[in-house]
Amino acid sequence: MKNFESANLQSLLEEVAIGARSVIGRGKVADYIPALARISPDKFGMVVCGVDGSEFAIGEADETFSIQSLSKVFALILALETVGPNTLWKRVGREPSGSAFNSLVLLESERGLPRNPFINAGAIVVTDSITAHSVSPILQLMGLVRRLAGNQKIYLDENVAQSEAEHGHRNAAIAHLLKSQGNLEAVVEDVLAAYYRQCAIAMTCRDLARSFLPLANGGTHPLSGEKVMTPLRVKRINSLLLTCGLYDGVGNFAFRVGIPAKSGVGGGIIGVIPGKYSICVWSPELDQTGNSLAGTRALELFSRKTRLSIF
Ligand code: GLU
Repeated sequence: MKNFESANLQSLLEEVAIGARSVIGRGKVADYIPALARISPDKFGMVVCGVDGSEFAIGEADETFSIQSLSKVFALILALETVGPNTLWKRVGREPSGSAFNSLVLLESERGLPRNPFINAGAIVVTDSITAHSVSPILQLMGLVRRLAGNQKIYLDENVAQSEAEHGHRNAAIAHLLKSQGNLEAVVEDVLAAYYRQCAIAMTCRDLARSFLPLANGGTHPLSGEKVMTPLRVKRINSLLLTCGLYDGVGNFAFRVGIPAKSGVGGGIIGVIPGKYSICVWSPELDQTGNSLAGTRALELFSRKTRLSIF
């Protein structure tokens, strides 16, 4: 073990898990996608991966869950590779939205330019930019995710995708509005199908923490040596995570935790401490802003006990 933090990390994670589990029961599992409502609310898993190759895990760290909006980060990485930043950033903004992740209001008033790539409207544009340039956007995305996680067995849960498609009226409304505003290239149904399927990718905390390591390591994957992106792109993506990664709870999360992160309604949160760690935590009960309740608590305890944050 090389430093104070990693020497004590396993026992620290045990304390974090106890503290985080104590808030389970006070939140609510997402039920607007029926397939997600069936998940047992008392799950908790956490994995910390170090850029030095170290790895620490606690709880249900190897159980798969629905990554949902965490997929928006992978899609952004792929879209930036596919169409390039100049094209993409003409179609999506970089400001926090201050409204719900699936809101239509801002899109109408701001004439089809979504505030950022992590609200649904922005993510649908990001997915569109991949869909319009690929015969199989999902295979491409799965390829990236499997490569980053180092796990070829990562799969897509078609039941979750189907369930979301059947109840995806707001997302369909967003996509049609974007199309009418001239900010959707591909056929609406194709973009929505790709979007629902990317959200339905199933991964474990371990897969996710490993796959985010390049964002903690200047763009190079410490496990494979692959140069995934430039340091400039890392800086930009991490900045977007900090300002836009947690829906309308992003300010409070930054206040409590102080690390760039992205959450999903499946209960996952993935965070990055540049130069040190990527951290994934999963617990399905959500707070009122749609972020994992115990997951947020776990990351808050982690940053306090280790004194690690970006500040
Ligand atoms: N598939 C979800 C939706 O579009 C993702 C939401 C989320 O995790 O924020 O509603």
